[in-house]
Amino acid sequence: MVSKVATTIRSTRLDDTTLDEIEDALIISDLGPSAAARIRDKLAEKRFGSVITERELKEAVADEIAAILRPVAKPLDITAFPRPQVILVIGVNGSGKTTTIAKLGHWLMEDDYEVMLAAGDTFRAAAIGQLKIWAERIGAPIMTGPEGGDPSAIVFDAVKRATEIGTDALIVDTAGRLQNKRELMDELAKIRKVLGRLNPEAPHDVLLVLDATNGQNALSQIEIFKEVAGVTGLIMTKLDGTARGGVLVAAAEQYGLPIHAIGVGETLDDLRPFDPDLVARVIA
Ligand code: GDP
Repeated sequence: MVSKVATTIRSTRLDDTTLDEIEDALIISDLGPSAAARIRDKLAEKRFGSVITERELKEAVADEIAAILRPVAKPLDITAFPRPQVILVIGVNGSGKTTTIAKLGHWLMEDDYEVMLAAGDTFRAAAIGQLKIWAERIGAPIMTGPEGGDPSAIVFDAVKRATEIGTDALIVDTAGRLQNKRELMDELAKIRKVLGRLNPEAPHDVLLVLDATNGQNALSQIEIFKEVAGVTGLIMTKLDGTARGGVLVAAAEQYGLPIHAIGVGETLDDLRPFDPDLVARVIA
């Protein structure tokens, strides 16, 4: 992949003009002004005035990006006791939420965890159907309810059942209709209340699924979902296309939320652990 940073460099002496260009390129790549300025400062501190090849420069930028990403790279650990670990999955419709739930379930099952899914997005009939198909494909039990039903009732039943049969992880789909923030907020609050009654620690994770192709919009989604649902971690999907996920650097800088995994395709095996060094090299 040709670097936006490298291709915008005319001069290879690391002077103010070059640093300005690097900073601009980083901002254009969705890293945000704060991370871009931080990287610029670091480069200046370490190499100002030196003559540097494009390749060295790309590596230096990647190192600085990785330094920002490394602290937020955290695998999703299944440690809840008592079981199940309740994982709420949130995100706007189309972000890849349903697919990510299936991939995550599959991933955990490959590690020998018992997984159950719960179809908490009762607002979209298609969402329930879609999740059922995925559950069948990965061989996980699923708790569903009628379209338009109460998601918190499904979650209640799911936790009870998961507890009975000793499920390790219960992954809960939720509605992603940000158009009606109030309703979504109430719905998620109700789910939390029900969960809290069954297990004060639940939900153990609230994972926000972000679509890499939405660029900077990811930041406003984090902001809104933090308020609506209390996000504990991020998964970014669609990093297999042209989007390179520069916004993850802005997110790491601004929010410091753990990044657990990335989606790199539409099949079950297309969820990867978040590797900060690899992603940094792609962004740079
Ligand atoms: P939801 O509305 O948020 O539940 O989104 P879906 O899970 O239905 O996904 C929306 C579309 O994005 C579907 O066509 C998925 O196959 C696709 N998708 C999800 N994750 C990825 C990914 O990591 N890469 C690519 N290329 N497509 C993805």
